[in-house]
Amino acid sequence: MSGNDDWRRRSLAAVWHPCTQMKLHAESAQPLIPVARAEGVWLHDYDGRRYLDAISSWWVNLFGHNHPAIRDALADQLQRLDHVMLAGFSHAPVVELSERLAALTGLGHAFYGSDGASATEIALKMSLHHWRNAGQPRKNAFVGVAGGYHGETVGALAVTDIALFREAYAPMLRLAATVASPDARGALAGEDAAAVAERAAAALEDWLAQHHEETAALIVEPLVQCAAGMAMHDAAYLRRARALCDRYRVHLVLDEIAVGFGRTGAMFAHQQAGIRPDFICLSKGLTGGTLPLSAVLTTDAVYAAFYDDTLARGFLHSHSYTGNPLACRAALATLDLFDSTDALRGNAATAAALTAQFEPLSRHPRVRHARHLGMIWAWDVETTLPDFARRYARHALAQGLVLRPIGHTLYAMPPYVIGDDEGDILARGALAALEATLAEEGAAGIASTHDAVAP
Ligand SMILES: *Cc1c(COP(=O)(O)O)cnc(C)c1O
Repeated sequence: MSGNDDWRRRSLAAVWHPCTQMKLHAESAQPLIPVARAEGVWLHDYDGRRYLDAISSWWVNLFGHNHPAIRDALADQLQRLDHVMLAGFSHAPVVELSERLAALTGLGHAFYGSDGASATEIALKMSLHHWRNAGQPRKNAFVGVAGGYHGETVGALAVTDIALFREAYAPMLRLAATVASPDARGALAGEDAAAVAERAAAALEDWLAQHHEETAALIVEPLVQCAAGMAMHDAAYLRRARALCDRYRVHLVLDEIAVGFGRTGAMFAHQQAGIRPDFICLSKGLTGGTLPLSAVLTTDAVYAAFYDDTLARGFLHSHSYTGNPLACRAALATLDLFDSTDALRGNAATAAALTAQFEPLSRHPRVRHARHLGMIWAWDVETTLPDFARRYARHALAQGLVLRPIGHTLYAMPPYVIGDDEGDILARGALAALEATLAEEGAAGIASTHDAVAP
């Protein structure tokens, strides 16, 4: 016996699943899907059903699952070098990846971690330590944007503005300050997205004017605050933030963990604003969604502040798997795919087709703020269901789709390789799941638990 039920039972008995109230799984309010294999946009379970991975497995997958080019690169690397510590050693994959990331971002000396959250930690620590080395130890606090999400380790959580995620850990955290989000949905009557961005930038300016002497860095998710519910903003905000950070001598840390690698239409989101950050955090799509790897790139000026005869002025931070050769090879194969498939141009065509396919959903009478950027679509649903997200996710699974709304925001972030027929399945299924979910509104007196914001 090795069907879904068996794996589900064993998983619930042995595995503590992430960002999950396990009791909901146990009571099957939220079914756990055991996945046997995956190919392209499809996940296959043990009972012969398939699900279209319309959220790219938590935003990590770019070119589909089990891509032959990445698989071949990994197989080749396994024949050569599995792993070696990166302190005191180096290897071709980490050197080549660092060179290519530098060429793509204009920032140098890539520092590696394994997860997005560790990239956030590294960027924050580097920024603070830079100011200390520069003789300004008072610049050691951080400021983030309302609704910002930068990961869930303690340092990252301190700059993550999601109350549910950090409430329980408040005694461990040194909370960062939070300034207004440029989220375009916050437009007042007569305002457009650029005006909202300007208003948020003015709030940032006020804050920096008062606190810059104690502030090491501002951390921002450029163009799309994904975990906040795909909150999108005008690129003007990033230009203003860059100018303000320059004026007040505060680092600009851009968290491109979710939006990097083509997700917003450009290779990196900040390139749409024509600015250069002081730090960029990368992870998720970096390996095409195959292996955990994160990277922080920074300016030569920051690097130079650590370059010294004194050990303690160096960046004494490490993880056992820093710069793992297999993960770096997967990243190199992923970057190759951007070139060999002309992915950014292809995505523009794919996005245009999908936007047309999503038209009925975007025009649905209960949808507000239908929005789209690059390979991200989002719709806010007007509903009385407090557990809309969970209910919707179940109906989506019944349609053969992995779609997990954040609160009342339904979104799609499919792998770039989604085909026309698959787009049709996604768009029709997403609409059908919406109708099925809204049909439950009348009987919703039974709902007692609210949605977690877990994407
Ligand atoms: C996912 C995410 C992180 C955290 O990455 P993990 O690999 O989950 O630790 C940080 N920032 C943003 C914007 C993210 O989307």
